[in-house]
Amino acid sequence: MPLYEYRCPDCDHRFEKIKSVSQADFPEVCPRCQNAKAERTLSTFSARGSAGPSSSSGCGPSSGGFS
Ligand SMILES: [Zn+2]
Repeated sequence: MPLYEYRCPDCDHRFEKIKSVSQADFPEVCPRCQNAKAERTLSTFSARGSAGPSSSSGCGPSSGGFS
């Protein structure tokens, strides 16, 4: 099952939840304030490698480089 990210509109808490695709659009309960209206966000996989164009241009491990 895929991993989804949810955000609570009350306390702005973000959390992840593994659930089936058919359940993904249903709101989740915020683990911090128990608000049952945490909404799914779509930033799960874009938040990982979005440091900037300068640091993500490599085509190999960070130990390499031209000399
Ligand atoms: Zn909350």
